[in-house]
Amino acid sequence: NRRILLASRPEGAICAENFKLVSTPLEPLVDGQFLVRNHYLSVDPYMRGRMGKEKSYAAPVALNEVMVGATVGEVVASLHPQFAVGDKVTGLFGWQEYGTSDGVGVRKVDDKLVPLQAYLGVLGMPGVTAWYGLNKIVAPQAGQTIVVSAASGAVGSVVGQLAKLAGCRAVGIAGGAEKCRYVVETLGFDACVDYKAGRLYEDLKDATPEGVDGCFENVGGAVLDATLARMNPFGRIAICGMIAGYDNQPVPLKHPQIILSMRLLVQGFIISEHPEAWPPALKELGGLVAQGELHYRESVVEGLERAPEALMGLLKGANFGKQLVKLV
Ligand code: NDP
Repeated sequence: NRRILLASRPEGAICAENFKLVSTPLEPLVDGQFLVRNHYLSVDPYMRGRMGKEKSYAAPVALNEVMVGATVGEVVASLHPQFAVGDKVTGLFGWQEYGTSDGVGVRKVDDKLVPLQAYLGVLGMPGVTAWYGLNKIVAPQAGQTIVVSAASGAVGSVVGQLAKLAGCRAVGIAGGAEKCRYVVETLGFDACVDYKAGRLYEDLKDATPEGVDGCFENVGGAVLDATLARMNPFGRIAICGMIAGYDNQPVPLKHPQIILSMRLLVQGFIISEHPEAWPPALKELGGLVAQGELHYRESVVEGLERAPEALMGLLKGANFGKQLVKLV
């Protein structure tokens, strides 16, 4: 079983030396267990937090332990009454080719109508995160303007499309002209601002002529500052992520007083604390994907050994859509 372990903790940006690829023999199954061959690994920004030892909402990965993460794959051997060989499953098997489980936290999935790896993105944790933060915190109403940062990504792309379906004006913020074009032309947002073009506030102002009623924040720092300056009274801000600061960069706010002057509601959330959101979110998102009303795209690298490179790229915006590793 080839596996990638956390070899050392990063100080700032992560590097290849923080990881170690090892090969270990598979343990024989005991009664009540099954063995899964992982087909895809999910690569997510939260993994950066698990590599450090800073205080966080989730325990760090221990040194020389397999890197955490969700996977999709297929049961290849089973001594479990409810899981049979050939079942497609998703679970937290981590960065390895094979995982053993007693079934806790493992979900069977159907890949007849949607590709298996969609259960790591639009029909997995990122999709549910978008659904929860938008509906439960931003609470969009028809006619309002909703801004989402990292708009071309796994979470942001779903947020903006759901906001459009709710009758809102959806405005994205993303890095680079190509991502912005995709956000408008393929995802159907009303506008998308390229924060790398050097005119973030001016461009956001032009894209939000009636101000901003709801913000779904994935980035933090200067990007959040620009949106704050466009907020309407009683606007809502869901703090989903602050990726601009995940390598320990400072992400100060220049004008926090706007929270007071505009009487804003600012609410952070961690999706793993809202298991009740999964059934309604997946019902709605699954229906939209099946009807072709929800678009998504993937960045796929091939080979377990390339997972560290995929995570390094994700934290710099090298991905374009949901970042996956295909195990070959
Ligand atoms: P994405 O697919 O959006 O990929 C990350 C994107 O972040 C990159 O493509 C890049 O887009 C952008 N980015 C990276 N570094 C920076 C930077 N320094 N400044 C600005 N943008 C940057 O990832 P996800 O959709 O999986 O995650 C999006 C956010 O949601 C993250 O902050 C993540 O931590 C958060 N999240 C939170 C959850 C929760 O429970 N609270 C659950 C899941 C995700 P670009 O090129 O456009 O800059």
